[in-house]
Order: sequence, then C-alpha cells, then structure tokens
Amino acid sequence: MKFHCTVEIHDRTLSVCSQRRSQSILAFTKKSDRNNEVYLYLQTRQKKQGTRYQIVNNVEQVFTKFIADGKVTIRLTRPCHDLIIQSTSIHVKSFIHVLNLIRNAQFQHHDMVVKDIVKSVTLTPNVFFNSSEFCLVKTKVVVNKKSEYPTLQGFPRTTEQLILRGLDRKSFDRQILRLQSLNVLDLSDNKISYLPREVGTLPHLQQLVLSRNTLGKSPGSKWAWLEQTAIKHTLQFLDISDNSLTELPIQIRNLNALAHLKVSQNELAYLPHNIGALRNLKVLDVARNRLSYLPATITHLRLQFLDVTENPFTHDTKTYVHGTESTTSIRMPSLVDVSAKSILKSRITYDASTIPYTLVEYLDEAKCCYLCRTACFACYIRKLIRLPLLLVEIKTSVGTALKFESYFCSLPCASTYPV
Ligand SMILES: [Zn+2]
Repeated sequence: MKFHCTVEIHDRTLSVCSQRRSQSILAFTKKSDRNNEVYLYLQTRQKKQGTRYQIVNNVEQVFTKFIADGKVTIRLTRPCHDLIIQSTSIHVKSFIHVLNLIRNAQFQHHDMVVKDIVKSVTLTPNVFFNSSEFCLVKTKVVVNKKSEYPTLQGFPRTTEQLILRGLDRKSFDRQILRLQSLNVLDLSDNKISYLPREVGTLPHLQQLVLSRNTLGKSPGSKWAWLEQTAIKHTLQFLDISDNSLTELPIQIRNLNALAHLKVSQNELAYLPHNIGALRNLKVLDVARNRLSYLPATITHLRLQFLDVTENPFTHDTKTYVHGTESTTSIRMPSLVDVSAKSILKSRITYDASTIPYTLVEYLDEAKCCYLCRTACFACYIRKLIRLPLLLVEIKTSVGTALKFESYFCSLPCASTYPV
C-alpha cells in the first residue's frame, strides 16, 4: 500500500519546520522478512533515502480535526516530529484507518491480525519509489475551457498552482478556499468583481493574478481580503491590471512581502501615498492610467523597475495648505491629530480589535512629512515637486516630466523643497 500526499515535518524540540512541505509517498513496511513489526515509511521527492518510523509505542497521537479537508497530523515520540499530511480526504481517511488497525493490533499483541494486515497490504522490508512515481501527486491544475471545469469533483486538495483563465466566471469559486497548499492563483480574463475575505487567509498564497476582471465595478468594501494576517506575509506578486479601478485600496500597504505590483490599464488618477510602506516592492507597473503625479513616498522605496508610460502627467505646480491655496499659515492640529501622531511616533501596533475601525482608517491614511517624516493628518502642506529617482529603471512616455505629490508638516519643512 502506498499513499501519495504532501508532508511537512515539524521538529517539536526546535519548534520549527525541519522539512518544508514536499511531495511524498507514505507506505507501511515490515521490519524484516522474519519480523512482522510494521513501520511507517516516508519518502520525499528530494530525500530519496526514505525514513522509517516505528509505529507501536511511537505514534503518540493522530490529529484528525481537519480530515474532511484531507489534512491530518501524526505526532511521533522518537524523533520528536509532527508529520503534517495532506491529500484528498478519501485517501487520508483510508490511510489513517489502516494505521489505526496496525496500532491497535500491535499494541494488543494480536499477532494474527498483524499477520493478516501484513498479508493484505503486501508489505516488504525494502521499499523504494522511483522519481517517476511522484508525478502522480497533482499540484498544478489548468482549466481553459468551461466544459473542463471540475464543478462536481472539485480541485485536488494538493493543488499548488491553479490557473482558471478566460472562463467568463462572474463569481469567485469558494472551492478554491479549501486548497490550503495553493501558492499561485490565476483568475485572469474573467468577470469577477469581488473576492471573499477568506482569500487573505490562504496560508501559502504568493502569486495572485486578477488581470482583466471587473474589480472596479463592485461597490462597497471589497478589499477585506487584503486585511487578513496570512496574505500580509505571503503575497509577493499581485496583478490587478485592466480592472476599471478608479483608485487603489489603501489596504495595499499591508502587503509586507509584495515585490511586484501590476496595476496598469486602469482609471487611476492618483496612487495612495502609503504605497511608500511597501518596503519590499521592486517592480511597479502603473502604465496606461490617468495619473497626473506620483506620490513622493515612492522615492522611499528601493524600486528596480517603474513603468509610468501613457499617463497624462500634469504641469500644475500649485501648493495647498490643508486644502486651501494659502501658503502663509497652517492651522493648529486637533487633539485627535496630536494623539494619532504620538501613536505612530511610538510605533504602537493597532488594529480593529483594540480601537474603533474609523480610527484604524484614520491612522492608516496618515500622510508623512517628506522631509522630517512626521505624520500629518488634517494639517499639512501639499506640493507637487520634482525629485530624482535613483537606481530605478524608468519606462516613461517621451517628453513627460515626473511630478511627485509631497506632504510637509510645517512651513519650514515645505520651504526646503522648491517647486
Ligand atoms: Zn516636517
């Protein structure tokens, strides 16, 4: 009996993952030709010499809470390992059934039962699987035609890359949320206007392609998936080009791991100034939008490539003091502004579980003085200035001068930068 699955090994003594999730085959094996004691055998695609684990008095516990989703964890005593196993639920169930039969029979010294099991699953002491056998675990699924869509049978739970392109789908298929191994999801060329919040909880999602959909056409809060903890740390590539977007969600600042952002061919008139919080961003494509200027915070990033072609960059150089055009005075900040400033200055973490959501939004929308980096809220000076973008390969339409929208906390800070 062999069982195709993915296995991740956690070493409990180190409380770290000692083997990343990899394609594996699990089997039962005999200790020797003479000894019928049954062992658990694990071979991974990378580690060809398999590992044998004693079962009796060694399998401490089997966690089956998520068995319906095709996931179980086997806790071993020696070595101190947790084997996190994923496959289709039907295969996981039959594997665990046999494992439990062996555990019980060996524990109660029912040698005849053990013999029967050994016979029925035809065990040999020497197990080895060729690399070709590992291909049986399906990790990439591509559907290009509506007629091939697995509506009834669903996607294999081991799917890591799911490509559902050009299918005219109007809604997000919630089956996708069960694919806990997913790291690439391509839904381009559909008519999807809304993603459920749970997309942001997929634990391994690194690349998300949503180009040529209709995300800009759904009203209300549609970006809650960007506020979830998992996606903040995993998503590296996001393509939301050609979606009729008139603005980028401010939640985009949460994507700490994001390296490549593609938002070309939308109707964006401006970019959120907190885009400067994307510390790992290397490639930014904002071509074919309606941008009149870029946020000055872009110059805080270590971009390698910036595409700003086909945007109507402005020649406007007006200075605004908190919305008015006076350049001689700045209003006194409110008490809320002062306290919000000190929260950001002391780097206190906040979210909707500790303070009202309206305050979270207020803090998230803070502008940052381009010179001294102080946070500003209702009182600021806004200027469009020219700035150098060092070490960046820029693709821009001929003859357009780049203007940067910058905010300053005070008149002295603002006067440092001429228009
Ligand atoms: Zn300042």
